[in-house]
Amino acid sequence: MTHKILVLPGDGIGPEIMAEATKVLKLLQQEYGLSIEMEQALVGGSAYDATGTPLPDATLSLAKDSDAILLGAVGGTQWENLDIAVRPEKGLLGLRAGLGLFSNLRPAILYPQLADASTLKADVVSGLDIMIVRELTGGIYFGQPRGVRTLDSGEKQGYNTLIYKESEIERIGHSAFEIAQKRDKRVCSVDKANVLECTELWREVMIRVAKDYPDVELSHMYVDNAAMQLVRAPKQFDVMVTTNMFGDILSDCAAMLTGSIGMLPSASLNEKSQGMYEPIHGSAPDIAGKGVANPLATILSVAMMLRYTLNEKQLADKIESAVNNVLDKNLRTADIMSEGMTNVSTEAMGTAVVEELQNK
Ligand code: NAD
Repeated sequence: MTHKILVLPGDGIGPEIMAEATKVLKLLQQEYGLSIEMEQALVGGSAYDATGTPLPDATLSLAKDSDAILLGAVGGTQWENLDIAVRPEKGLLGLRAGLGLFSNLRPAILYPQLADASTLKADVVSGLDIMIVRELTGGIYFGQPRGVRTLDSGEKQGYNTLIYKESEIERIGHSAFEIAQKRDKRVCSVDKANVLECTELWREVMIRVAKDYPDVELSHMYVDNAAMQLVRAPKQFDVMVTTNMFGDILSDCAAMLTGSIGMLPSASLNEKSQGMYEPIHGSAPDIAGKGVANPLATILSVAMMLRYTLNEKQLADKIESAVNNVLDKNLRTADIMSEGMTNVSTEAMGTAVVEELQNK
């Protein structure tokens, strides 16, 4: 079966890091028999400049027609003053909504070789491997009613609505439990059930979903405690599943435990396991065009794509171990550079991963 992959380099460092990720995909195609068809399209600021919209219809229809999307990053200072409806980020939101990507997978992995990059003590974070599963299309970010109204007193009042249907909680629950089955078989559901009725329902539904996965252990934690535990003893977690807003905050906190934004991939999946894969970082306009960006987060996004959409677990493992070997050889881009290591360019890092894969 041939998998269709849509490549969206985007803006800033996007094209540079994407060139390295597609080098890896081509190698897998040539030497490991991976059957893929790759197409490329515009998204974000570059799409706006070329077509007047950050998500051209052609891009959305190619995205809907592909098995997986590999995205670089979007955005940049030159587009910051545009009307909000056509800002580069709208391209991403349009893809998420258009494909119904409700399950956001954010791993926080700290390679032992980079333990010094974290602001936490090396023994607290070295070898960290957590997966945060964030609900992405519901909750307070989308709930109605919302807005700012003027009260009879003349004072303004802002309001948003935290809202989840059972079916929305069930599907993100299944997503988390299925992932846990491929890992250490532990799910921690994060809520605020002591204060918010909506997350009381969240907890109830998670307990129900857990019955379908007797091999996976379910625990619950209030979000305030979860934030504390993430910085106190993060290695206690395997999979964490939570609402859109709690996941937004906790996943950024978990990412920062690793101290290396250029190393972290992410995935957003829909019910058909169609997915959009992208590094967690942005378009880094400050270093764009200099050939110094770290391409490993994008290369590791390819590994996630192989694992979660293309069902090529062995190839995913191969990429992850190639990245590990490259770090063992002391190669570092500027963002993860430390004393005694060899500083390499974006392109040299991509080539080093490709060579590791060739040596297998
Ligand atoms: P950023 O992630 O782009 O950059 C933050 C810092 O990390 C910068 O110093 C940057 O140089 C560095 N950095 C990021 N990725 C790196 C990499 N691969 N290698 C080395 N260093 C790296 O965040 P920002 O500066 O807040 O945002 C810049 C632009 O990106 C904005 O327009 C923002 O809206 C956009 N953005 C896009 C996404 C996305 O496409 N998913 C996510 C976040 C931000």
